[in-house]
Amino acid sequence: MTNMKAVIANGPKDYKLIYDKPIPKIQDGEVLVKVLVNGICGSDLKMYEGSEFYWGVGGRARRGVIPGHEFIGSVVDIDPLIARDQSISIGDVVVAEQLVACRDQCWFCKNGMEHKCDKLVIYGQGVDGCMAEYMIYQKGSWLHKVPEGLSPTYAVLAEPIAVSVRAMDRAHLKPTDLIVVSGCGTIGLGLIAAIETYYPDVSIIVLDYFQFKLDLAKSIAKKCTTFNLSDKTVSTIADIVRKMSGEQNGADVFFECSGSPDSIKAGFEFVRKCGTFVHIGICKEIHVDAPWNAISAGKELTIIGCNLGRHAWPRAFEILKKCDLSQMITHRLPLEEYSNALNLINSGIKVVLDPTLSAPKLLNDSKSLLPLINNNDEQFKIKDSIAFVTGSSHGIGRAIAIALAKEGAKVIIHGTNHDSPSYSNEGTTMTILAQEISTITNNTQITAVWGDLSTKESVQSVLNHIKYPIDILICCSGEQTTSEGKICNDTCLTISDSDTKLSLNRNFWTTHLVCQSIVPQMIHNHRGHVIIIGSTSALIGREKDALYTVSKAAVHQYMRCLATEVKSSGIRVNCIAPGPTLIEQSTQNIGKEQGISGRLEHVANAVIHLLNMDFVHGQIIRVDGGEQAFSS
Ligand SMILES: [Zn+2]
Ligand SMILES: [Zn+2]
Repeated sequence: MTNMKAVIANGPKDYKLIYDKPIPKIQDGEVLVKVLVNGICGSDLKMYEGSEFYWGVGGRARRGVIPGHEFIGSVVDIDPLIARDQSISIGDVVVAEQLVACRDQCWFCKNGMEHKCDKLVIYGQGVDGCMAEYMIYQKGSWLHKVPEGLSPTYAVLAEPIAVSVRAMDRAHLKPTDLIVVSGCGTIGLGLIAAIETYYPDVSIIVLDYFQFKLDLAKSIAKKCTTFNLSDKTVSTIADIVRKMSGEQNGADVFFECSGSPDSIKAGFEFVRKCGTFVHIGICKEIHVDAPWNAISAGKELTIIGCNLGRHAWPRAFEILKKCDLSQMITHRLPLEEYSNALNLINSGIKVVLDPTLSAPKLLNDSKSLLPLINNNDEQFKIKDSIAFVTGSSHGIGRAIAIALAKEGAKVIIHGTNHDSPSYSNEGTTMTILAQEISTITNNTQITAVWGDLSTKESVQSVLNHIKYPIDILICCSGEQTTSEGKICNDTCLTISDSDTKLSLNRNFWTTHLVCQSIVPQMIHNHRGHVIIIGSTSALIGREKDALYTVSKAAVHQYMRCLATEVKSSGIRVNCIAPGPTLIEQSTQNIGKEQGISGRLEHVANAVIHLLNMDFVHGQIIRVDGGEQAFSS
């Protein structure tokens, strides 16, 4: 074999996989390895997207380079001198630090700052990296044998964790400091693990937008308080942190681990007077706004930069052995899926490419359409999945719950009140309804929850009754009624404020709150399907039907946006839009008289089929017998 697969970075957003890259041959001082695993880093995404830092004048990236700087390889060929000096043999699992320096020629190398060498190159940027089957560890690399007991996939975390360790060193922490870590990607979580290992009495405040990352932070460090930035504003959290810190009125050290301009600005709020601001993240932007006077006249801060992980690798391996950070590896994909992998960074933590995994057969292997996660490449099945159907006390929701129960799902039905089924003369209570569904479907795993879904708190209190992660979410709550119980003056120019708010609340707002509470968990588990029940009436203009159709149209568009956001997380989101012909059971006879043929089962069947379909995402599927047989 003389050729290999490799990803080539020709420029911003111009990467391609080729199959005929010659396998490189070693020269003096070099090592050839077979790449066992390749970690994707936030900086890989920034380079892909075309950040000036990489592609601008004097930038770090070279056109035509093989990207990737986090890797573990097994030695295939080695300069005998290196093999002797560092006692490395063919077959050893070895990693090179991510930088190559002249080591002894330039002023910086001579003065112990090799990571700022005048001839510095970073793997995957200035010299070929690891998105390939084989790579060369260049002359001048620092090599480390991976300690026994660490799998290559896990050990690939050593590179980012070495960066975290260096940041910890640079901060000169005191044993009882109160610190803030902003950003829970690999670097932030690695920093938390490093501090837990070497400064166990430091109190850590952690900020991020993703609850699963915050939960992981908590599981790594004992003295850790987390704040979800989607729940509270920065200034509210900063107030709380100031109170927590007592007289010193702020954190001793702020670690900026996200590279986001907002996070940088926030740092100046969190840090106390004469405190320390450590910046580790790499910003996409070249210039970032900051309250500059805070540094001197305002707070007299110590601002510390840090880059790469020199002198930190042995401790990075120690941390990997001591803490269980395996949950940080959220996705594992074959090399062919490199562009998916880049997109997955924002919804996962560490995404790894494994060139030894076989390529998916895109046309007939449906599994390849979902990322391989933690080696779990199971296909989505309805049977034994946990399905939560909001608004299933009656009508369409109930029909869907029954259909899911027939398919063997563990169904959780929901009504606003315990006696919701009685409102539409379709039963008595939610508990009895659950028993009835159990009986008719011969499925013992039906449970009922009830409660209002119109505030974040009330959604949470309903969800508190659900013990297991939800795999299937069917959003079916929403009604066509108003405060008076009937619709009156339902035209754009006459609808009342209160009816408009009520209708948006019942249809759009509840859907939004429920998705916001459940989808992050699905992202975390890389498993889930959301189906929102919309309406074909929202797909065309209608006279005297503004309230309901506007709020259903909001739901449709919400679904599209959500689908775009979760596109690469292995989760699917779609709408089923029943036709106007589909009505509640109690009025079905009237429907027949009007020549209406749509039935609840048509919608329920569509839901089941959609759940079983692969690769359908972000769509509104009309179930209306062809009434709206036109495009868009
Ligand atoms: Zn990295
Ligand atoms: Zn140098």
